[in-house]
Amino acid sequence: MRAIGLIGGMSFESTAVYYRLINEMVRDRLGGLASANVFLHSVNFSEVVDMQKAGRWDLAAEHLANSASSLQSAGAECVLICTNTMHLVAPEVQAAVDVPVIHIIDETAKALKSLGLSRPLLLATRYTMEHGFYGERMKSLGINVMVPDADDRMDIHNIIFNELCAGTVAEASRHRAIAMIEKAKAEGADSIILGCTEICLLLDPENLPLPGVDSTTVHAKVAVDFALGDATASQAAA
Ligand code: GLU
Repeated sequence: MRAIGLIGGMSFESTAVYYRLINEMVRDRLGGLASANVFLHSVNFSEVVDMQKAGRWDLAAEHLANSASSLQSAGAECVLICTNTMHLVAPEVQAAVDVPVIHIIDETAKALKSLGLSRPLLLATRYTMEHGFYGERMKSLGINVMVPDADDRMDIHNIIFNELCAGTVAEASRHRAIAMIEKAKAEGADSIILGCTEICLLLDPENLPLPGVDSTTVHAKVAVDFALGDATASQAAA
């Protein structure tokens, strides 16, 4: 089994989900008491959030590139950046290592395509919804992403950082997110991307007004495919 490297802690709430999913998938596929070979570097999220707020993506890139490099030195044979937002610096992280960085946007696009979906609403942080790196990469892969309006973007961003990353799952926020999905459905969306690795704590992708694709589950599954050697993982392109 190949070793999986996780850059986690962004937030630790979602990294815990990755860890459980990866191990459950390995146990389901191999049986018995099998579990995954995982190296985790869990960063201090508040430092990363300060870099995000200051727009210091250069510092964040350096920080995560160092993390990837340590994971490779420890023996990781692939690296996952366990957050959609920080894929903004995925090219720099990939440049720091020889092992593949399994790219969450590419894998989510493949999952949508395999379901015949091409017009998803993206629910994510404002960085992911507004910076362009996500929508542009999706577009190059044939997926035309919709984003909520400005007020809704602010609300979902605040739900992510003030609630989900802090360990709070609120029923009112679930209703708020479902209302955004209903609105997007009326505007022509054919699916939902749970495009933040904590949103699966709030929404069940199987139980939404539109088909949902959870980036955390997709990412974890591709890592397990890679670890067990039955799939090719895409690398972050520069
Ligand atoms: N985990 C979140 C994501 O998938 C947000 C936390 C972050 O800013 O990295 O985007």
